Amino acid sequence: MTVLMSVAALSARMNSGARTVVLDVRWALGDPHGHDHYLTAHIPGAVYADMDTELAAHGLPAEGRHPLPAEADFAASVRRWGINAQDTVVVYDDAGSAAAARAWWLLGYAGLPEIYLLDGGLAAWRAASLPLSAGEESALPGEAVVRFGSKGTIDADGAASWEGILLDARAGERYRGEVEPMDPRAGHIPGAVSAPTSENLTAEKTFLPAEQLRARFTALGVEPDTAVAVYCGSGVTAAHQIAALEIAGFKAALYPGSWSAWSNQPGRPVETGANDDMLKGMTEVKAYAANSATSGFAPSTIKRREPGAHDVEISIEFCGLCHSDVHSIRSEWGPAKYPLVPGHEIVGIVSRVGDAVEGFSVGQRVGVGCLVDSCRECDSCLEGFEQYCEGGNVGTYGVADRRNGGGITQGGYSQAIVVDENYVLRIPEGMDPAAAAPLLCAGVTTYSPLSYLDVQEGDKVGVVGLGGLGHMSVKIAKALGATVTVFTTSPDKEVAAKDLGADAVVVSTDAAQMEAVKGSLNAILDTVAAVHDINAYLRTLDRDGALIQLGLPATDMPPVDPGLLIRKRLAYGGSVIGGIAETQEMLDFCAEHGIVSDIEMVTAADLDNAYDRMVAGDVRYRFVLDNSTI
Ligand SMILES: [Zn+2]
Ligand SMILES: [Zn+2]
Repeated sequence: MTVLMSVAALSARMNSGARTVVLDVRWALGDPHGHDHYLTAHIPGAVYADMDTELAAHGLPAEGRHPLPAEADFAASVRRWGINAQDTVVVYDDAGSAAAARAWWLLGYAGLPEIYLLDGGLAAWRAASLPLSAGEESALPGEAVVRFGSKGTIDADGAASWEGILLDARAGERYRGEVEPMDPRAGHIPGAVSAPTSENLTAEKTFLPAEQLRARFTALGVEPDTAVAVYCGSGVTAAHQIAALEIAGFKAALYPGSWSAWSNQPGRPVETGANDDMLKGMTEVKAYAANSATSGFAPSTIKRREPGAHDVEISIEFCGLCHSDVHSIRSEWGPAKYPLVPGHEIVGIVSRVGDAVEGFSVGQRVGVGCLVDSCRECDSCLEGFEQYCEGGNVGTYGVADRRNGGGITQGGYSQAIVVDENYVLRIPEGMDPAAAAPLLCAGVTTYSPLSYLDVQEGDKVGVVGLGGLGHMSVKIAKALGATVTVFTTSPDKEVAAKDLGADAVVVSTDAAQMEAVKGSLNAILDTVAAVHDINAYLRTLDRDGALIQLGLPATDMPPVDPGLLIRKRLAYGGSVIGGIAETQEMLDFCAEHGIVSDIEMVTAADLDNAYDRMVAGDVRYRFVLDNSTI
């Protein structure tokens, strides 16, 4: 099934003179000036298609905001647009194809065979510096026959009794009923699964590659033989979802009335919150949550799902405080979804297991790190690198829990958590559980690149920065048999670094000390998240050395000098956390070598103070929350 045409392909077709009908569907909710935008600039030869008068009819509220046009009316529009039976038709808009998809769907529904969405729309056309025209364009009347029914549709009764998967294409906030900007009731059709169309697109508003879309829909429960139906607010963006499903190789039916019709029909039931099926038997647990970027923490309650067949319920004993928690809670990495309970260095005791769980039993001590799910199908997942899941891994807090109803995941500053057994780790016997918690993020973040670089006995490893990640880097590199040099800007950290096992300490602001280690190291882990100059550290690497960036600065860094890389065949790379199997391997390695984190325990009431101290760098080396104080 071909759904998309690239701007390059359309431009080539137009240049070759191949007959192509181009439709401009400039329309967006709240912007009545689509036609004016079209008159100002459009793809040469494009005819304007009007959402309100040509792509939809109008009727009673109970029929929805954009009912399908009558067949005869649509046939008249198709004639006006100049479409003949076998024409290649390309439709576009300037809104990530959300409006164009309605025209794409209707033309397919009318039985026309060669209909394409222009991937990336007008923005991609402009970005490619292709020519534009202005003013009205018209076509010779077309002769295509319109006969509705070539794609599946359902009505409200069909949606009410749908046996397969019913996807809700609106934003998650509208699905959950937290906001409702235009329809009379807030929430979703009972049993529907949240699947916002915005997640079908890249940052450039082109569709994600087919395999990523397949992973996304598979994670929502769509299989090749699943009956899928889609609705949205008024049947427009649902067509976008159907296009994305077709790109992924799935067929789906449209509910044209969508939420605007459903919510206007008295007696139709409404659900709010995350998917109700998933919430049955939910347990309420105490937690500490932030309500805004500046609120700090307050006692709260959150719901945990009833363990499913593959789930493990964990009574949390300890949770490490990671610098990512600070960035997330304070919306420093983009707007967070509040209320938010952070925490992804979780250690606790299994309290219940699902019927199909094989790897864990009640009473066992376990851990949960930064991931609680991933697509499980992409190459990265299949190779055990779930942190690089091509469909996007599901973080332990702050993201949509796709497989479990689409609610926002909540982390370890809470009494309990329920996690699929594939994402649960075994804490080895005899390990101090509180001091083991930071291994689940800081430990694996440093172990993974050392393992990837195959650091071993006799290698010389540099560690830049001596915070949470830095101190774990020193311990793990030493246990691997390396000689470790710590780079720090504070001369007073020398004793602390040596206490952790460092063989040498170099004050990076001292040119003579830096010169003395020039060309001597095999690998460097750079844990510093502040903006700094990498070149000074690259100079300390020997031939074939590698510098791996672990800290993520908020703004651009000074450029890397390629001459340094070239002259000694150096590599400059990055790495984030680790896969599930690798995390278990790291825990077992740390147990064998007696490694845990150096920690300071805090109570829940002291979280705000601990955050301030973390930001000030006043912690040796990790705070761990005692969850019994929640
Ligand atoms: Zn972390
Ligand atoms: Zn994956």
